[in-house]
Order: sequence, then structure tokens, then C-alpha cells
Amino acid sequence: MGKITGFLEFDRKDETYAPVKERIKNYKEFTKPLKEGELKNQGARCMDCGIPFCHSGCPLGNLIPDFNDAVYRGKWEKAAKILHSTNNFPEFTGRLCPAPCEEACVLGINEPAVSIENIEKNIVETAFKNGWIQPEPPTIRTEKKIAVVGSGPAGLAAAQQLNRAGHNVTVFERDEKPGGLLRYGIPDFKMEKNVIDRRLEVMEKEGIEFRTGVHVGVDVTAKELQNDFDSIVLCGGATVRRTLPVPGADAKGVVQAMDFLPQNNRKVDGIPFKGEDISAKGKKVIVIGGGDTGSDCIGTSIRQGATSVTNFEIMPKGTPDRPDGQPWPFWPMRLRTSTSHKEGAERVFSISTKRFNADKEGNLTSLVTVEVEWIKQPGQRPMLKEVEGTEKEWECDLVLLALGFTGSETTVADQLNLELDTRTNIKASEENYKTNVPGVFAAGDQRRGQSLIVWAISEGRQAAHYVDKYLMGESDLPLKGEGDLPRV
Ligand SMILES: Cc1cc2nc3c(=O)[nH]c(=O)nc-3n(C[C@H](O)[C@H](O)[C@H](O)COP(=O)(O)OP(=O)(O)OC[C@H]3O[C@@H](n4cnc5c(N)ncnc54)[C@H](O)[C@@H]3O)c2cc1C
Ligand code: SF4
Repeated sequence: MGKITGFLEFDRKDETYAPVKERIKNYKEFTKPLKEGELKNQGARCMDCGIPFCHSGCPLGNLIPDFNDAVYRGKWEKAAKILHSTNNFPEFTGRLCPAPCEEACVLGINEPAVSIENIEKNIVETAFKNGWIQPEPPTIRTEKKIAVVGSGPAGLAAAQQLNRAGHNVTVFERDEKPGGLLRYGIPDFKMEKNVIDRRLEVMEKEGIEFRTGVHVGVDVTAKELQNDFDSIVLCGGATVRRTLPVPGADAKGVVQAMDFLPQNNRKVDGIPFKGEDISAKGKKVIVIGGGDTGSDCIGTSIRQGATSVTNFEIMPKGTPDRPDGQPWPFWPMRLRTSTSHKEGAERVFSISTKRFNADKEGNLTSLVTVEVEWIKQPGQRPMLKEVEGTEKEWECDLVLLALGFTGSETTVADQLNLELDTRTNIKASEENYKTNVPGVFAAGDQRRGQSLIVWAISEGRQAAHYVDKYLMGESDLPLKGEGDLPRV
């Protein structure tokens, strides 16, 4: 695969970024792609390693050495076909995936891994540029009608697969445009929204119907869907936000990240938003939570004109290298620094918020923290312990809570009498994505809990296979890793 001596000849080379001063002036993507020759060399670094662990590192089972080889040989159209045979939307994962495949790359044991994610992005962008991504409507339609609830990556993947099997697919989305967190969570500087729109155009031409502004469970009941459709696939995401139940958390200026980020994405898109305008302009901002959402709050606050941005993380600071006890090819918990972190945020680790302070009008003025340590006893989970005498007050006028999600909303599940797990996600086995109600399936964050785009696409594809099988008795829709290697 690739060039047999490629990994000895070429170093890893990543795309570069526009300078911070320039990029924070707007919300556009700011990556600068490698030249075609450089990309071929990156594909050439893929070794003939024998057992490509990257396949199992990727939740989609992407056929990584095969598309790397095609890129090395300049066969971009073939690379695009291989890539799309396992992944409906590589333009999303190529920009946003944390790339567990690269952590599992064999070359990564003692050298920088093959730059799989970036190669993936360039394959799909080349394919769009050359008009190779065309609608693939089914040649024969079945009589079956399927309702997909939710248009995030899980719903979109399930819809595209089921439509390709010939079924009549309607996607219900309560927001004004489809995309889920791709559109209303992830900021444009990580992925501009025309990237979603051009894919939706292909899907509409394939015959998928999108009904936006329809809240299932409210505007139309789940029972009505059950009567009108042969099957329902629930892909509503894990939308219940974790709160911070400490004194003063109701102060004006303590805001959920998922009130702040979707509003800003709507502003960027020129769509009216509901509720009070939340702005970081001229404010001392503290972002509580160190994950993707926290990082997106940092980049957005900086672009809105915050005077300072501080980021709290309750976990200790990791090391940039793989920690002991988390060996290759597993996903390591190490220090990850995003492009937003590099735009001017101060990061503070091992810190916990004790209370918020407000003025007489109830406006946030400061918060109080304490340092924490994690005590690990053999055989037990690490316990959080406050470090005495470390209380500190931080002046601030906007706090963004980016603490993750505790589960999914239950309106639709209640209307259908679906079983839930302890986190209110819908119970459906990974074996077949079936809920306890015949004909009703669940996939993505609403089934597995807060996760990743790559997992959502993977679950949408898997669920589509089992829905097709439920309706038709058998299915040709591929399961994980059952991609095609075209001869072109
Ligand atoms: C701010 C943020 C940044 C992130 N960044 C990354 C990242 O960089 N990389 C990554 O891999 N992952 C990231 N994630 C996680 C990733 O976005 C999710 O794991 C993924 O979007 C889940 O896909 P999904 O299709 O299951 O659900 P979602 O994307 O949440 O989509 C669910 C959709 O269902 C709709 N819906 C829900 N209930 C109903 C109903 N009753 N009727 C009609 N519509 C309904 C919702 O409006 C929504 O559009 C991020 C998450 C957040 C919040
Ligand atoms: S989808 Fe993610 S894990 Fe899979 S090959 Fe692409 S970057 Fe790697």
C-alpha cells in the first residue's frame, strides 16, 4: 500500500492555518491545503503493514490503506469511490473527526502517523470539485415509507442508505435547516455550512424529502408517524445539557454553551434567533469544560471580541505524548490543543467551580474556584478531592457552561412507550438497532449518548441495514467495513 519505502522518504506534513490575527476577524474556515504532490507523498507514507489497525480504529471501518494507495498513484476518483463505500459524508469527518484511526496507525508506533483525516478531506473535496459526487437515486422504488426523526449525521446517513435501498424516506427536523449539531453546534470556522448544503442538495436530488420546522412529539405525534410510516428511525441526538448546581448559577451571565453556540451560528447564517442576544463582546469570559464544545466557545468568544477568555477543566493536565498504561493502538487520554485554544485562551486544569457571585441586579460579577486532585485507590474509580486553602475568585461577566450532555429528550420515547437506559437514551441493541417497539429503531447520540460525528454516521448506516432487513427480510446495504474496491 502506498509506496513501499514512502514512510522512510517522507515526513508527515499537515495542512497549515491562516495566522491567528487574520482568522479571528471572521467565521470562515482557515486551513490552507497541501499541494497535490505533497498529498501524494502523504498517501505514500502508508506502509504495507500487514494488519491495518487503522481499519478497526475507525468506527466506520474506512478502507484506509486502499484510498491512501489510490492517492499516492494519483487515482483520485478511485480514492473517492473507496472512501464513499464506507462513509457517506467524508467532508464532515475529514474536517471534524478526532481521527482515532491515526492513533491506531502502525506507523504511529514510532513515527508520526499517516495523516489519514487530511487525506480523506482532500479526496472528497477533489471529488466535489471535479463533479464526481452526483445524486445516486435508486433504480427501483419499494412501497415502503420510512420516517427519520432528526437530521444530524446519524439521521442523514440512515436516510441516504435507506433511500438508496429504494425506500421512500422523509426526514423530520425541528430546526429551520437540516444538519443537527453539524449546523447549530459546530461553528463555521470549523466547518462552513455550505459544506452541509451541497451534500443536502445531492440527497434531495436522490429523492429524500426533508420536512424542517417539524417537532415530532409536538407538531406531529409519534403515534401519527407510526400510523403513516412502515418504520421510524429515531436520531434525535443527546440534547439534555449537564448543569452546574452550585450557588449563584442563576446569575445573569451564566449561560449554557448550547444557547450561545447555536445563536452565533444563526447570526453567521443571517437566520433570526429566539431569546436574548448573548454576546462575549468586551467581556471577561470563562468557559467551563475542556471538550470540543468548550473549545468552540473559546473560538466563538474570541471572534465576538471578548477581552479575555479563560478555560477551566476539572481533569488534570495531560501530557502531549501517549500516557503509560494506554498503549497503541488504543485511544489515549492526552493533552489535546485545538486551533481555538491557540487563539488566546488561558487554560486552567484541575479546577472546580464552587459558586457564582452577582451584583444587586443579579448580573454575574465573579466566580470562586478551588483546586482539585484525583485520588486513585487500587481497584476503585478515581475520587475528586478539593485541595484545602486554594479558593480563588475570578472576575468575569460571561460564563459559558460546556459540561456535556446527560442524555436525550423523552417526549417521543414516552409517546411510543420505548424503553430507555439509565441516562434516558433509547434502549436499542448494537446488534440490530431495534427498540422494544417493532418497526422503531434508534441510532446516533440518542442511542449511544453524547459521542462523535464518525460514530453517528456509523450508527446511521448500521441502523439502515437493519431497517431494510426488517422491511424486506434481507438487506444488501453494507455493514461496517463492507466497502467496495472499484477497478477504475
Ligand atoms: C458544540 C459541539 C461541538 C462538537 N464538535 C465535534 C467535533 O469537532 N467532532 C466530532 O466528531 N463531534 C463533535 N461533536 C459531537 C457531534 O456533533 C455529535 O456526536 C453528533 O452530531 C451526533 O449526531 P446525531 O445525528 O446523533 O445527533 P445531532 O447532531 O444532535 O442531531 C439530532 C437532530 O435531531 C433533531 N431533533 C431532536 N429531536 C427531534 C424531534 N423530536 N423532532 C424533530 N427533530 C428532532 C435536532 O434538532 C437535531 O437536529 C460536537 C458536539 C457539540 C455540541
Ligand atoms: S472517519 Fe475519522 S476515524 Fe475514520 S478514517 Fe476518517 S478520520 Fe479516521
